[in-house]
Amino acid sequence: MMSTTTVPPTNGIVIAVLREQAPGEQRVATVPEVVKNWTKSGYEVRVEHDAGRGAFYPDELYVAAGARIAPDRAELLDGATIVLCVQPPAIADVGMLAEGTIVIGFMNAAQNLTTVTRMRARRITAFALELVPRITRAQGMDALSSQATAGGYAAAILGADNCPRFLPMLTTAAGTIRPATVLILGAGVAGLMAIATARRLGAMVEAYDVRRAAGEQVRSLGAKFLELEINAEGQGGYARELTPEEKVKEQQMVSAAVARADIVITTASIPGRKAPVLITKETVGTMRPGAVIVDLAAESGGNCELTQSGRAVKEHGVTIIGPQNLPARVAYHASQMYAKNLQSFLSLLVGKDGLLTREFTDEILAASLLVHAGEVRHKPTLDLISGGKP
Ligand code: NAD
Repeated sequence: MMSTTTVPPTNGIVIAVLREQAPGEQRVATVPEVVKNWTKSGYEVRVEHDAGRGAFYPDELYVAAGARIAPDRAELLDGATIVLCVQPPAIADVGMLAEGTIVIGFMNAAQNLTTVTRMRARRITAFALELVPRITRAQGMDALSSQATAGGYAAAILGADNCPRFLPMLTTAAGTIRPATVLILGAGVAGLMAIATARRLGAMVEAYDVRRAAGEQVRSLGAKFLELEINAEGQGGYARELTPEEKVKEQQMVSAAVARADIVITTASIPGRKAPVLITKETVGTMRPGAVIVDLAAESGGNCELTQSGRAVKEHGVTIIGPQNLPARVAYHASQMYAKNLQSFLSLLVGKDGLLTREFTDEILAASLLVHAGEVRHKPTLDLISGGKP
C-alpha cells in the first residue's frame, strides 16, 4: 500500500523515482524541492521507499513536497509515465515497464547493451543524459557537467585527506610550512573544479590540458598553466588523441611536473576511448614519498599505469587512488544538481498545454533519444549492437 496523504488532482503524468540499486550509489534522481514544483504543476510523483536515504533526503520530505512513497518497485512502476534514475535501469526493471514508458537517466549504453536491447524489445522510450548536446540552451540539463563538478570537488578533498602534508602555507611559532603543490592533469569540468577546490585549501596549483583554450580558465582560477606546443582541440570542444611524437613531448613535461607535486589529480579522457596514460610507473618512482595520485579516469582505464579501479594502492611510498563514482561522495548536492538537470530536461517533454509530447524533434531530445518505438535511435549504440551490420 502506498502512503495515503491527500494529493492534488493530477494532469495524468505519473513520474516515478527509482531507488538506485548499484553498489555504492548514494545519489537519487530527484529531490523534494523539485518534487514540489512538479506536484504544484499537476504531476503525480511517486518515490520508491528510501530512494533518497543515501543522499539524506528522507521519505517524509518527499511526502511533504506532495509525493507518494511506493513501498516497492511493482507499485512504483505500475502505470508510471516517466521513470527517473541516475544509473541505467536494471534488466528486471525494464521487464516491469509498460510499452511507451519514458525512462530518463545516465544510460552508459556501450556498457549496457543488453538493457538497451531489452528496452527496444519492450518499446520503451529511453533518454540518455550523457547524450545531451553541450549547447548553450542545454546547459541547465548538462548532467555530465554537474556530476563532473561534484567529482572534481570530491577528488581534491580525497587527495588532501590522503596527503600527510598541510595544503596551505602556515606561519606558526612552530615554524613555517610551505604550501603543498597540487597538479591537475586535464582541465575540463572536473579538473577546473579540482583546481578551484585545491586553491581554496591554500595549495599552489599547476594544471595541464591538451586543449590550449583551457589555459585561460586555469589561470583565471589562480593556477599555473603548463604549456606545451601542442593544441589538441578536437570536435565539439573535446580533446583529440595525440600523435606518437606529441605523446613523447607530453610525457616529458608531465613527468617533470608530477615529480614535484604532492598531490596529482588526473581527469584526462577522450570520449569513447580508453583514457590516455599520462603517468608511467617509472614516473611514480620519481615522486616524493607521501605523494598522492587521485585518478578520476580509473573507470575508463586510468591516467596512471599503476591505477587500480575501485582501489587505493601504495607504490614507492606513493598512494594511488582509483575512485569509482566520486559524485556519490557528495550525494546530497550531486543529487540536487542532477534533479535540477532533470527538471530542465522534463520541461522539454511537456508542451504549453501540459501534455506530454511524443514528437521528439527538439534538437536536445533528438540527440539524447537512445531507444524509441522499438528502435535504437543512437547510431553508435546501434552499430555496437549489430556489430556494424545494418
Ligand atoms: P572530458 O571529461 O571529456 O575530459 C577531461 C579533460 O581531459 C578535457 O579538458 C580534455 O581536453 C583533457 N584531456 C584529454 N586528453 C588529454 C591529455 N592527453 N592530456 C591532458 N589533458 C587531456 O571533458 P569535459 O570536462 O566533459 O569537457 C570537455 C569540453 O567540453 C571542454 O572544452 C568543456 O569546456 C566543454 N564543455 C562545454 C559545455 C557547454 O558548452 N555547455 C559544457 C561542459 C563542457
